Amino acid sequence: MDSQIMGGTLKQKGYELVENDEKADLVILNLCSVKQKTENKERHRIEQLRNKGKKLVLAGCLPEAVNLGKDYPELSQIGTNRVAEIETVVDNTLAGEKTVLLGKSKTPKVLMPKIQNGTIRIMEVQSGCGYFCSFCSTKFAKGGQYPYPARDIVKEIELSLVEGVREFWITGQEVAGYNDNGILLPDLINKITGLQGDFFIRIGMLHPASVLPIIDELIEAYKNEKVFKFLHVPQQSGSNSMLKKMNRKNSTDEYKIVIKKFKAAFPEMTVWTDIIVGHPAETEEEFAETVRFIEETRPDFVNISAYGWRPNTPAAKMKQVASDIKKERTRILSRVVKDLMLESNQKWIGWKGTVLVDEYKPDKGTWLGRNYAYKPVVLRGPHLAGEVVEVEIARAEDTHLE
Ligand code: SF4
Repeated sequence: MDSQIMGGTLKQKGYELVENDEKADLVILNLCSVKQKTENKERHRIEQLRNKGKKLVLAGCLPEAVNLGKDYPELSQIGTNRVAEIETVVDNTLAGEKTVLLGKSKTPKVLMPKIQNGTIRIMEVQSGCGYFCSFCSTKFAKGGQYPYPARDIVKEIELSLVEGVREFWITGQEVAGYNDNGILLPDLINKITGLQGDFFIRIGMLHPASVLPIIDELIEAYKNEKVFKFLHVPQQSGSNSMLKKMNRKNSTDEYKIVIKKFKAAFPEMTVWTDIIVGHPAETEEEFAETVRFIEETRPDFVNISAYGWRPNTPAAKMKQVASDIKKERTRILSRVVKDLMLESNQKWIGWKGTVLVDEYKPDKGTWLGRNYAYKPVVLRGPHLAGEVVEVEIARAEDTHLE
């Protein structure tokens, strides 16, 4: 979303945005701090552009989480909390004056100019989170929980509907903890779904421990037909002893309660979770517990990440798991997950209903839509983004329906 805000702000100020960095006078790289692997790729990209002599601005969470000034002392930087000030950094950099704006001076990222990609709007509702997971460096970049005003969020959605947006992704580091002076996540959802218009909202990452205190109200709010029946609850491990080492603040049983209650209300709901494999001090038995947990709870999709070392985190100081063991554990869990995903999708063969068309895949010449459970459906075209079409599911792969 930071890219959309920086792009929208610059466009409003009269800058021209170009697709290709060859044509650009200045390139802004919006950099992510979540994974070491991503950082390595990003550093490679910085080097490439620097060697070409491009004027560069390093933006996003990475400049907040890592001291980039040590490696790139001549480059401008702007942190994720300062995106509203992008014009200053760009103007100065174009004039040959390095500018660094970092720090936690927070501004709600709502009702700001944004560039729009198709009919989907990423709607960040809060920044930061109240947890201290052992492996997380995003927390350093984003800080504590900072909810944006519910009134402004609803206003931005109302205005976006007029512009033709049909799908909103309600995001944040930990959305279940949203609390704007007593307006909690279920209240926010009710306010949004109370708006007139044909649209869907997708609720983003929810920490299981934050879901439990609001679970009944949240399920009620999900009953609105504008809410995708889609639950993204990162669990990170299926072993209680591992969860303690990760400082995750929830147990496997608590996750199971969340899923059981939601599935009882919405049996066809799509459940996503995230698992970290090979976190420092993860034993063979703890990994085996995670595999059994996934087999038992059967999520529809699992985002598996091999643990990557992040500077200054508690996990960085723990005993690291050897990379060949991490690779092997990732392979084992991926195999299990692939089979589960295929089984989950096969249940939809023969289903008839409507899907909202999201995007065109030019490389494959197909369209992608989503049904009410946020299942990805590959469509024969031609279609228009934002259109609602009738479908019958003919085939299922592990990643999508056709
Ligand atoms: S919940 Fe944990 S992993 Fe997620 S942002 Fe907060 S500290 Fe990081």
